[in-house]
Amino acid sequence: SSITNHLPTAELQALDAAHHMHPFTANGGLAQKGARVITSGNGVMLTDSEGAQILDAMAGLWCVNIGYGREELADVAARQMRELPFYNTFFQTTHTPVIALAAKLAELAPGDLNNVFFAGSGSEANDTNIRMVRHYWAMQGKPQKSVIISRKNAYHGSTVGSGSLGGMSGMHAQGGLPIPDIHHINQPNWWSEGGEMSPEDFGRARAQELEQAILDLGEDRVAAFIAEPVQGAGGVIVAPDSYWPEIQRICDKYEILLIADEVICGFGRTGEWFGSQTLNIRPDVMTIAKGLSSGYAPIGGSIVSDEIASVIAQDEFNHGYTYSGHPVASAVALENLRILEEEDIVGHVRNIAAPYLQEKWQALTEHPLVGEAKMVGLMGSIALTPDKSARVPFKAEAGTVGYICRERCFANNLIMRHVGDRMIVSPPLVIQPDEIDLLIERAWKSLDECH
Ligand code: PLP
Repeated sequence: SSITNHLPTAELQALDAAHHMHPFTANGGLAQKGARVITSGNGVMLTDSEGAQILDAMAGLWCVNIGYGREELADVAARQMRELPFYNTFFQTTHTPVIALAAKLAELAPGDLNNVFFAGSGSEANDTNIRMVRHYWAMQGKPQKSVIISRKNAYHGSTVGSGSLGGMSGMHAQGGLPIPDIHHINQPNWWSEGGEMSPEDFGRARAQELEQAILDLGEDRVAAFIAEPVQGAGGVIVAPDSYWPEIQRICDKYEILLIADEVICGFGRTGEWFGSQTLNIRPDVMTIAKGLSSGYAPIGGSIVSDEIASVIAQDEFNHGYTYSGHPVASAVALENLRILEEEDIVGHVRNIAAPYLQEKWQALTEHPLVGEAKMVGLMGSIALTPDKSARVPFKAEAGTVGYICRERCFANNLIMRHVGDRMIVSPPLVIQPDEIDLLIERAWKSLDECH
C-alpha cells in the first residue's frame, strides 16, 4: 500500500517479522535477518526497497514467463474487474473470459486434451486430478482402481492431497501426509543415484520400477501415474533419454492414466508449449498453473482427454472451487497466452535463449565446484560436488554448500535457488543474450565466493 511503501526498510522488515508467516521458511531465522523487500519488476529485473537491481533467474517461482511489468495484463485485469469482477461457473452459468480461455487451451494442448477444469493453483488442480481419475475409474465400474503412483522428491503442491502426491520427505514428515493409496517410486536422478550404471540403463531401470509397482499392487488397483516431465522443485532432474519412452510403454500396456504435471514445464519453459511435447509423451491429463498467467493472477487447471471428460460428464462431479474459472484470472491468462503467441516467445526460447544459456551453463562445469550441468529449454541445474569423478555430494550437512552459494548469489543480486547441493535456474522466457551474460557472470562470481 502507499502507506507501507514509504516506510524505511527496517520498519517494513520488523512488521513482516512480527505478523507474516512465510511459506517454506524458518520464520524465526528470517526474522533475525530481515526479509528482502521487493518493490517492483521489469523484464527479468527486480528492484528492492534499497534500490538494488536483482536479476531474477527463477522467474519468481518458475512462473513469470513473459517477464515483469507487462502493462497489457494490468489493463486487461482492470477492464475485467470493472466489467465483471466475479461470477462463478457452478450451477449452469458461465462467462466470456472462461469460455475463451478454455477454447484457447484446447487449441494449444496436444492430442485430444480438449477439456479444462479450472482451479486457483497447481495444488488445487492436482487435488482435482486425484478425485477425477479415481471417479473416472469408479464410473466405469472399477472403484478399486484408486492408487496413484508418483515419484520420490516430486513436487505437486502443498495441499493435503497434492502434498501426498509429491514425494518430498520433509513435507511428509509434518502434518500427517500422505493420504492413503498414494505410492512412490524412485526418481531418475542418475548423477546422485546411478552408481556404476550407464545413464541409459539407469533410466530404463528407474522406469521399470513403475511396472514392478503395478505388478506388486495389482493392475486392477492402479488408477494413474503422475510425474513432472522434468522434475523442477526436486532440483531440475532431467531423466536419461531411455526413461520416458519406457514409462509411456508401461502406462499403455497396463491401462494406467498418465498425468503430466506441466505446472513448471508448460507454456514454453522447455522450448515447446508443453514439456510433454519436448519429451514426446502422450498424457491423458495435464496439470497447468504458473506460466498460464505468467503468475500475474492465481489460476491453475487440469486439461483432460475427450475420453475422460465424456465419462465424467455422465454424472455430477461433486468438486469445484469458488475461484474455478475466475473472470479476472481467466482474462489475464488469455492475454498472457496472446502475448506468448504473438511475440513467438516459445520460439525465442527454442531458437535463441535456450541454446545461448545452455552453452554458458555447460561451461560452468569448468568451475572446480561444479559436477554435472543439466538444462532443458530454460530450466537448468548444476550439481555442486567436492569430487566430480566420484559424483559425491558434500559430506557436511545436506545443502550447506548449496545454501551458501544461494546466499552469495543473493548478495550479488542474482536470484538462483538451491535444492540440497544443486543450484537451479528458470529465468523469464523473454531473457536476452546480454542478460544471460550478466546471469552467468554473477553465478561465476558467487561460485568463486563459496569455494
Ligand atoms: N506442480 C508442480 C510441478 C509445481 O512445481 C508446483 C509449484 O511449484 C505445483 C504443482 C503447485 O502449484 P501451486 O504452488 O500453484 O499450488
